[in-house]
Amino acid sequence: MSDERLKIDVDRCTACGACVEACPFGALKLERVAAVDLLRCTLCGACVEVCPTDAISRTERAPVGVTGDSWRDVWVFVEIEGAHIHPVVWELLGEGRRLADALGERLCAVLLGNQVRGLADRLVAGGADRVLVVDRPTLACFQDEPFAAVLAELVNRHRPAILLCGATNVGRSLIPRVAILTGAGLTADCTALAIDPQTRHLLQTRPAFGGNILATIECPVARPQMATVRPKVMQPLAVDLARSGEVQVEEVAAAMLAARAMRIGYTPEASGTASIAEADIIVAGGRGMQKAENFQLLEKLAHVLGAGLGATRAVVDAGWMPYSRQIGQTGQTVCPRLYIACGISGQIQHLAGMSSSEIIVAINKDPEAPIFKTATYGIVGDAVSLVPMLTQAFLDA
Ligand code: FAD
Repeated sequence: MSDERLKIDVDRCTACGACVEACPFGALKLERVAAVDLLRCTLCGACVEVCPTDAISRTERAPVGVTGDSWRDVWVFVEIEGAHIHPVVWELLGEGRRLADALGERLCAVLLGNQVRGLADRLVAGGADRVLVVDRPTLACFQDEPFAAVLAELVNRHRPAILLCGATNVGRSLIPRVAILTGAGLTADCTALAIDPQTRHLLQTRPAFGGNILATIECPVARPQMATVRPKVMQPLAVDLARSGEVQVEEVAAAMLAARAMRIGYTPEASGTASIAEADIIVAGGRGMQKAENFQLLEKLAHVLGAGLGATRAVVDAGWMPYSRQIGQTGQTVCPRLYIACGISGQIQHLAGMSSSEIIVAINKDPEAPIFKTATYGIVGDAVSLVPMLTQAFLDA
């Protein structure tokens, strides 16, 4: 990654527009003076050459922080889902509180959205000492570019030591962009976090090599130390309405809110079952379910249990289920209390996404199937005939 960035000297800029015309990537626009969109800028230097007043220069990226006083506090990005705070935020606040206390620093929630100021008190009740709010109509729905630009700007402004975000679709899309914009590192999909008492570094633990080992990763130099955390891994705090905290509204330049993509609508996936990311129970099917139609049997069981419906990659590749239902290394990671695996062999890439489930029940007609090594309870038999019997048994219970 380049260590350069573009700098515009606002005192020299006459807003002549030469740079805007010269930029091949549309990364410059005129506000009061020229402003650069860092997500588009490739640092090609075309604007530097044409500027008649030498107002534009390429500079070394601000040195990334080293441990010390200038990078302080633990931040949690607040993901909004519809009008609600995503459940992972409460878990991150619980974990963030523990980390902030270990460091003797503040826990700060970062809330971006439209008319979200009213949510700040709930974040304080959930553990935050401070809430930074950017409240703008253009932030009403999540979009990568403006959210990343605004969050990176706040990071550069306030210099947090740690930034946590849910390993959700939004978090996985947003945080790598923020890492690039701020020159920070990032550990994705953490399942445990701690502070090293000697170095005060964040110890970020995540499964690696298909879940075979747990790797603990440190970022000794770059700041902030950034991690995404899988939902349902950390413990939220009990809500404490008596807690008090500071709420600070932040202003950002209009150029930061620009996005190349336009949201034209939102169509929720047509599925009668719960989302696998949040479900306490998951019923998942593999190629052993024989054909697409047999997934209706799993859907019925999922309905009766209030469960989410998941699948293996083999099933998704066969077109029996959409990718949004795929569990595993290249699908979603889930951590339900109960996982019912039907006709799933238990290859390592599938286990990588579900092996931390609390209880695993496997139904497979092959007694030697690898899934039985991971399962808490195993049923050897034909899933296609056993699943309706299970559904009926739960209905009768
Ligand atoms: P199979 O392996 O074919 O297993 C079917 C099982 O069903 C068998 O054990 C069989 O005994 C049993 N069976 C057959 N009939 C019945 C019946 N009537 N009743 C009960 N049991 C029956 N896979 C994922 O799932 N998620 C991922 O994210 C993923 N990512 C991958 C990434 C990479 C880079 C690679 C190389 C592979 C990935 N895979 C992933 C694929 C993975 O390796 C396996 O191929 C896949 O998980 C197998 O799916 P399956 O268990 O449905 O099918």
